[in-house]
Order: sequence, then C-alpha cells, then structure tokens
Amino acid sequence: MNQPSLDPRAPWVISTHDLGRRPGSMREMHLVLPAPADIGVDMIGVPKDADVELDIRLEAVMEGVLVTGTAWSPLRGECARCLEPVISHSEVNFQELFFYSAEDAAEGDPLLDGELLDLEPVFRDAVVLTLPLSPVCSDDCLGLCVDCGIRLADAEPGHTHEAIDPRWAKLQDLVPEHNNDQES
Ligand SMILES: [Zn+2]
Ligand SMILES: [Zn+2]
Repeated sequence: MNQPSLDPRAPWVISTHDLGRRPGSMREMHLVLPAPADIGVDMIGVPKDADVELDIRLEAVMEGVLVTGTAWSPLRGECARCLEPVISHSEVNFQELFFYSAEDAAEGDPLLDGELLDLEPVFRDAVVLTLPLSPVCSDDCLGLCVDCGIRLADAEPGHTHEAIDPRWAKLQDLVPEHNNDQES
C-alpha cells in the first residue's frame, strides 16, 4: 500500500504544502528542472541534466491533487537514415491525478506522499510516448549510399557507382559470349 517515501530535496518532487486540501484550491508554477537520466528510446532522448521547462497547475480535488502541465525539453539523437546527430526539442502535455489515499486509487495510480508528489514518472511517460522511433535530421534526408556508405547529402548530385551489380557479374561468368563482348 505504501509507496517509498519521497525525498523532498529531489528536483522532481513537488510540495503541495501551499495548495492545501480544500477542493477548488489551485496553484500555478513555472519550473526549470534537470532532466532525469535515461529518458529516451533507441535513437533519441532527453540529455541527462538538460533544462526541462515546465508550466504546471496543481488543483486540489476531492480525491487528491490534479496536476496538469506542459513540459519543454531538448532532444538529442541520431538520424535513422544517415546517422548524423539530430538536435530537436519536445513539447508535451500531461495530466495526472495524485491520490491522497490508496483506497481511492486504482492499481498503479500515483499517490501523494504526505504533501509531496513525484513528477518525474509523469514527465518520463509523457515524453517517451512522443519520441520518434526513427528520428531524421531533416524530412528530406537522403540517407547513405547503399554501395559506399557516403552520406548522400554530402555527395555529388547524382552520386552513383559504375561497379557491376554482383548478381549480374555472376551471370556474366555463366555466359561466355557475353564476357567476350565486354572484353572487346
Ligand atoms: Zn539524416
Ligand atoms: Zn556511393
């Protein structure tokens, strides 16, 4: 029933002390918090300790504290097509009800720990849901040449290879007359 006690000094632990418990009571906050570690998917994520800006509204309701907010954070990753760095940012909205009592909450619902609530899991879940599985450096990224691996954006326009496709080379070995034609 009891969740582990929150550390009031942890950056993502928010105190509802000023809010009180009277339903209808409301507080708005603007916060800049260091990004927690390991927020991301394979190829893109929020760099640890990067500034995350948050606008949040705390509202006391009958069962707990409703937190509604928007978070802005930088993103760093790798282009899925050309592997160049991707620098981007994320804006996510979130809403979560933190319950006063586990009796009112369903399994997995967040609880207040005394006057404290932990925004980190809320932020983490909201951001990770919006991250692209295949981030790209630009929508028209050309990717890499399948033959030599050069980044096509850096190559001469119309970059191609004269080399014969290995499947055709094999076929040529099987057809002697064709080989003669090539050698003449
Ligand atoms: Zn790219
Ligand atoms: Zn090439």
